[in-house]
Amino acid sequence: QRSTAAVAASDKATATSCTVECSGFEIAHLTKRYANADRPVLNDISFTLPHGKVLVVVGPSGSGKSTLLRTVAGLEPIQGGTISINGQVIETGRPGTEKAGRSKRSTALRTRIGMVFQSYDLFPNRTVLGNITMSPILVQKRDRAEVEQEALALLERVGLADRRDAWPHELSGGQRQRVAICRALILHPEVLLFDEVTAALDPEMVREVLDVMIELADQGQTMMIVTHEMQFARAIADKVILLEDGGIVEESDDAERFFTHPETERAQRFLHTFE
Ligand code: ADP
Ligand code: MG
Repeated sequence: QRSTAAVAASDKATATSCTVECSGFEIAHLTKRYANADRPVLNDISFTLPHGKVLVVVGPSGSGKSTLLRTVAGLEPIQGGTISINGQVIETGRPGTEKAGRSKRSTALRTRIGMVFQSYDLFPNRTVLGNITMSPILVQKRDRAEVEQEALALLERVGLADRRDAWPHELSGGQRQRVAICRALILHPEVLLFDEVTAALDPEMVREVLDVMIELADQGQTMMIVTHEMQFARAIADKVILLEDGGIVEESDDAERFFTHPETERAQRFLHTFE
């Protein structure tokens, strides 16, 4: 639906990927508490995200969007509910883990979900190529030559092939975010999470990052995106969730309808603030 090329690409993605056991991503009754807080920051969140689809999460500041992505990525433990991929539970809530650092998820399970953050957190002492190839070589023990070849192909895809030997400080913000996306992609995540990845960028660099994300969506990458760019959200989303106070206020499997005819008064008010 995003473009004609897009339709052809996503048809192909569907044909080559999905079977019964390859159904997507599911959150059930997820509850998250921070230590010393009087109420949960996420309270009984449930939704599904079919393989190859894009979920956009919107909501006011402080509603829990970043926390939701961080728990899904395994950066924070959860106290209730489950997170599953293709029917396999990868995380189960455990009461009393409010003070624990990361979740206890294994590295193998952790790499099934990738994340790109608002601040470009590239390693300053590694080149562009080094940033992308480090985890696959050191953590996944993959072959260096094969990993570098794949990294170059990814850089080509985001228009940065000529920057492979540059240092992070030599790049613009938009270029750094595109490298960060390559670094996530090389681990072949089943779900890729984006937390306001253009919020810190100068306006002229926003487009080059959003275009890469739209291309990924067209190629069938399952994604969960937090963004305040409502035009972009409308263009890329298959599914939308509006969060407020750690709960789902409105959930729509028809993103276009959500943006043009939201059902709840709360969603109408939220969307008005962007007009
Ligand atoms: P959003 O991304 O939607 O702005 P966040 O997930 O960052 O929301 O925050 C949701 C709520 O959780 C806020 O009230 C915030 O103050 C609180 N919060 C976020 N991180 C922590 C933390 N590490 N410890 C305690 N409270 C936190
Ligand atoms: Mg946030």
